[in-house]
Amino acid sequence: MFNVTRHQPGPDCSTDYRSKDVILALKKIFNGKCYLCEDKVTDPVVEHFIPHEGDPVKKFNWNNLYYACRRCNSIKGVTTDILDCCDAAINVSDAIKCLCPSVPDNNVVVEAQNCDEKTQNTANLLGKCYNEKNTGIRGISREALHEKLFEHYCKFIDDRRKLKNLDSSQQEKESAKEHLTQMKNIAYPFSAFWKWHILSDAFLNEQFKGIQ
Ligand SMILES: [Zn+2]
Repeated sequence: MFNVTRHQPGPDCSTDYRSKDVILALKKIFNGKCYLCEDKVTDPVVEHFIPHEGDPVKKFNWNNLYYACRRCNSIKGVTTDILDCCDAAINVSDAIKCLCPSVPDNNVVVEAQNCDEKTQNTANLLGKCYNEKNTGIRGISREALHEKLFEHYCKFIDDRRKLKNLDSSQQEKESAKEHLTQMKNIAYPFSAFWKWHILSDAFLNEQFKGIQ
């Protein structure tokens, strides 16, 4: 999960929360990523952070509209009481640790970093978003999501190898470090994973010490 800065005022969504203007504004502030799984979304849906349940005040409220993929939208359903990635007071990627599995079929590791109920609820939800395969469609979407995650993870490992290897040229090392820096930027797919993979690795942690 990553933090999002929501500009105010938003586009007019008083009668249509899925208009072109609204979708494009959401795509921009969410960096084209699902706010839950962090995948770059090609078939987005507008998610109501607080389920509107027919209430027009919640349904057509810019602050309640979030950019999501269909899989996460369906899994979240009417779940409430989770961390708000648009709340600048909370660093959501610090609050929840995400790590890739060593093989794509295994579960993604999602761990709340404190006992706060919202953080726990969010970690539970993210665990389902990454790993749930309780229907045929979710089995297929999980496989696609894990393959994309694993593809990025392979690049991450390759960059780490280049950075660590004594035989790498200075140019190779600089290029690898630049790519790893991009990966932990919130605009990059699954950015929270790369932040945590760096933090969990003494060598990489040393390389990026003091670099946000
Ligand atoms: Zn998603």
